[in-house]
Amino acid sequence: MHCPACNHADTKVVDSRLSTDGASVRRRRACEACEFRFSTLEEIEILGLTVVKRDGRRESYAREKLVRGLEKSLEKRPYTVQDFQQLVHKIERDIQKTGHGELTSRDIGELVIKHLRGFDKVAYIRFASVYRSFGDLHTFEDELRKLSSAKKSKSVASRRSAKSRVRSST
Ligand SMILES: [Zn+2]
Repeated sequence: MHCPACNHADTKVVDSRLSTDGASVRRRRACEACEFRFSTLEEIEILGLTVVKRDGRRESYAREKLVRGLEKSLEKRPYTVQDFQQLVHKIERDIQKTGHGELTSRDIGELVIKHLRGFDKVAYIRFASVYRSFGDLHTFEDELRKLSSAKKSKSVASRRSAKSRVRSST
């Protein structure tokens, strides 16, 4: 890998660390010419997977779409960058476990719902309401009820500390 500072062709790996879920490796590197230090992140990329959309169109699986969908449902919710990455890895691991070369966008949606449920209730409801707008209203209502009773017991102070946690991790 070329040095981003001086473009020298040789950089050496100083340290490499596997993420706790084993799905990515972060490597610290140093340029052999100018000693500039930087790090690289190696992640699993799913290849050869086709997603069949609801209207029948097919496209290659793209992590960016999963990430965008998750970010949208997690808007203004407290979470750390690290937790978010782990969430993406877990969902992608499940996608890979299906073992098919083809998945429907609905299949992926169900996997996202499954994982968001334990990650963030509000995001779970937001996402589930989009994917199951007609199929599973009872779950939606149950979750809404649980959420509104949980809200009452949460103080403003705990929300504030959650917000500052997000800020410090970005
Ligand atoms: Zn350099």
